[in-house]
Order: sequence, then C-alpha cells, then structure tokens
Amino acid sequence: MSAETKFSPVEGFEPPALGEPYLLTPGPLTTAYAVKQAMLRDWGSWDGDFRAMTADMRRRLLALTGDTKGEFDCVPMQGSGSFCVEAMLGSFVPKDGKVLVLANGAYGLRAAQTMQYLGRAYTLIDKGDYLPPRGAEVAAALDADPAITHVIAIHCETSSGILNPVAEISEAVYAKGRKLLVDSMSAFGAIPLDVNEIRYEAMVSSANKCIEGVPGFGFVIAKKTELEAAKGRSHSLSLDVHAQWATLEKTGQWRFTPPTHVVAAFLEALKMHEAEGGVAGRGARYTKNRDVMVAGMRELGFETLLLDHWLSPIIVTFFCPAHENFAFDRFYGLMKDKGFIIYPGKLTVVESFRVGCIGRMDEHVMRRVVEAARESLAEMNVPDAAPPRTALEERAKLAA
Ligand SMILES: *Cc1c(COP(=O)(O)O)cnc(C)c1O
Repeated sequence: MSAETKFSPVEGFEPPALGEPYLLTPGPLTTAYAVKQAMLRDWGSWDGDFRAMTADMRRRLLALTGDTKGEFDCVPMQGSGSFCVEAMLGSFVPKDGKVLVLANGAYGLRAAQTMQYLGRAYTLIDKGDYLPPRGAEVAAALDADPAITHVIAIHCETSSGILNPVAEISEAVYAKGRKLLVDSMSAFGAIPLDVNEIRYEAMVSSANKCIEGVPGFGFVIAKKTELEAAKGRSHSLSLDVHAQWATLEKTGQWRFTPPTHVVAAFLEALKMHEAEGGVAGRGARYTKNRDVMVAGMRELGFETLLLDHWLSPIIVTFFCPAHENFAFDRFYGLMKDKGFIIYPGKLTVVESFRVGCIGRMDEHVMRRVVEAARESLAEMNVPDAAPPRTALEERAKLAA
C-alpha cells in the first residue's frame, strides 16, 4: 500500500497529507491542507503585508470573545502555550500580589510551578487528577486568605479532559473582590468564553489547539486597563506582555522575530474557523466528534474516566481494559498502524489513555477510530474492554 492511499479520504474533509496518521492529540493536531499550504511563502516581519496579517489576526481573535465595547486587546506572544501562561502571570500579578491556583491536573500544577519560578506568592487548591474546583471552595479559600489578589483557573484541564466550571469560579472570585485569570489553552475557539457572560481580566490560548493552526505562538487577551497596569511588572524581558502590546500598538510589529509562517497558517485557520460558524460551529463539530467516539468506545466496553456532565468536547480519558492481554504500548502501535495516533493517559491512580476530538476531523473519522479500536482489541485477543473495578470505584468519587 502506498503512503498516499493508506488512509482514504473522508466525506467533506481531506485526509492528512501523504498518508500521515490523524493526530488524536490535543495539539499539535491534524490541520487542514490549506493551513499547511499558507506556509509556502516567506514574509518580512517589518513589511506592511505581515503587519496587516498581525492586525487582522488580533482583530479576529478579539471578536471571538464577544468584546463589543473595545475593553479588551489581544497580544500574541512567541513560544508555546506555557510561555503565554508565564507571560500572563508575570505581567498581571503584581510583585506583591498573591495567586490562588486551582489545579486538577498537570496544567494547573504547571501554573503553580510557574509561580514558584516567578518567586511570587501563591497558594494551591489541588483537587487531584480530575475532581473539579467548585465555586464554594474558591469562595472559602478567598475568605480565609485576604492576601490573595488573583485566581488562575484552567478552562479545560487537558490532562483528564474535564471541563472546569469557570462561570461558577468567576462568580465566586468577583463576589470576593478578586481578579480571575484563565488558561483557556485547549478550549478557546470551541467553548465560549464570552466576556459578557463570564468575567475575567485576562486569558491565554495558543495557535495549535481549537483554532487548528500549527504550533509556534500563543496569545493573551486582556482588559486594556490590566495591560496598562502591567507596565514594568514582568520578571522577563521576552515575556513582558505590556512591552509586546506597546510595541504592537506603536509599530504594528512584534517586538522580536515573529513566527511568520505560523502566523500565516493561523490566519488561514481563523478564516476556516469563521466559515465553520465560529465558536458555536467549531464547538458543535467537536461535540459530535466526542459523542460519536464515546458512544462507539462504550459499545466496545471501554469506560470514560469522567461522568458525562464533566466530559469536554476536547479530549476524553478512557480507562485501560482490565483484561490481562491488554497492553497500552501494543494498543498504541496497532492504532497507529491503522492511521490514528492516540495519547497516553496522565492519571496517577489507574492506567488510562486519551483520545482527542479536536483538529481537522469529523464524525466520519471518529467512526473509523472506533473501528480501529475494535480491530486492535481483536488483534490483541482482548474480548472485553471493561476497566478494573478499582477504576470505577475511583470514578464514583465524582458523583459523590
Ligand atoms: C496545551 C496546554 C498548555 C500549554 O502547553 P504547551 O505544551 O506549552 O503548548 C497549557 N494549558 C493547557 C490547559 C493546555 O491544554
């Protein structure tokens, strides 16, 4: 079988180029051919054409927040998503401020670790692998510690796939007179974070998640009053959000070399996002992807880590089957042979793996994912994908 014909095209969606497997991962992810094609040109970072592209991109991203009053602005930042989280924390939290970090997985813990590197005060609510931080406990923590100035919440905690209750958290934060920062990395563009619905000072996301661009930069969307107040606060020259913003406003250019090709690809991805119906359209496709895939996997006997209420349309964690013939590495290889790259799990208590629902894929692809899982189980001689009893006991904690 030639590389080109290995994975057949799917209705309405072109297959990944040259027989590449689909990436069922939360970014980098499978991108459209048009997005890749947009990179076949060189741009001068100082040139008017590229400055216009940057301006268009900032305008389009801002529009996704529903900010009609011009209260917010968008500041792109070189690097991966974590660079933006660090830039946000270092720029918006005063040196004498204190952050309450809400963690229920790797990305919340990374935000805490970032605070440690910054040498700024923080306190942590660590809910473990996947239990959601709730409004009431946030309120209690804020009452207990008047020194806390800011709260950082993870919108979708990608390590379990849980969709955290940011609206509830935001209400608790502002009821106590504090400020909210949001890591919406894996949610923005597919799950609404409308400034008219949910109050926050700043949020971050990156090029290679729900907008379906390629990796290389992220962006901070923040209140202009916060951007102004951030002057002189950053611990880092290159991660200074105020300085980047000021330069963009003054010259239309990024401060240091921008990832020009990545920006060009991202602009194409933003146009495709708009054509699909914006946040609602993108969210609807991912939701369908998740529903089709989860229903099919459950039919095979697999169980999700999360109860339906907490399942995001971004990525889903499944327990590994209890059957003695099941080995994740083997399953991974068999799935890859069939054209699908899945993702290892990140739970500490039980064995798991993850399947992403984001990227240039639709429900037809997801049906083939389930088919590939069925065939892989058969090849491994695993007749039943049911998880161990301990896994289901663990999950029961969510309902409690
Ligand atoms: C992807 C992601 C990040 C950033 O990770 P990078 O590897 O630095 O791109 C941060 N937070 C969440 C919730 C994410 O999903």
